[in-house]
Amino acid sequence: MPSDPLQTGDFRRCAEFHGHVCPGLSIGYRAAQADLEKLHSLRSQDEELVAEVETDACGVDAVQVLTGCTFGKGNLVFRDRGKQAFTLFSRSTGQGVRASLRAGAFAPDSRQGELFDKMHANTATAEEERELWELQRDKSRKVLEKPVEELFSIQWVTRSMPDKAEIEGSETCDGCGEPTMASRMRRIGEAKYCLDCAGYRE
Ligand SMILES: [Zn+2]
Ligand SMILES: [Zn+2]
Repeated sequence: MPSDPLQTGDFRRCAEFHGHVCPGLSIGYRAAQADLEKLHSLRSQDEELVAEVETDACGVDAVQVLTGCTFGKGNLVFRDRGKQAFTLFSRSTGQGVRASLRAGAFAPDSRQGELFDKMHANTATAEEERELWELQRDKSRKVLEKPVEELFSIQWVTRSMPDKAEIEGSETCDGCGEPTMASRMRRIGEAKYCLDCAGYRE
């Protein structure tokens, strides 16, 4: 049996999907596991589960792999709160489990920050890059080995669930000619435009 938690099948699938091993991925992995366990659910098939994530960082990728909730299926909801908090709902009951990272449960060390800065500035040596990824693996391992109750505060929550995505017809934009969902178009005079052609800016 491999004793390295980074080598378990499920975690490796997450790392493969995400592209690297990092503590953020490990946090999402543990949160999704904790949610699933408490919800006694199986992997989502045909939108039985809805995941709500309060960050758009690394951990979300582990949530997608473990729960089967994805952006494309419409059962992954991004609620931007800038928190390492991950909730999994049963769509039929609206009952969910929210795991949020406890204060002090995880902190990057200053050496990691230093190396990240160097890497972003393209001044890191190959040796320093290796050191950074080794640190990332160490930190990830620690997250995977920590007792779950030390990592997260875990609570039951209830929420009315978003409707299942409906198929909606498209119309042709009078500006660019691209087919566009009718509800995303703006009427200007007699013409109908997509948001970009209508001058919409986020
Ligand atoms: Zn990452
Ligand atoms: Zn257009």
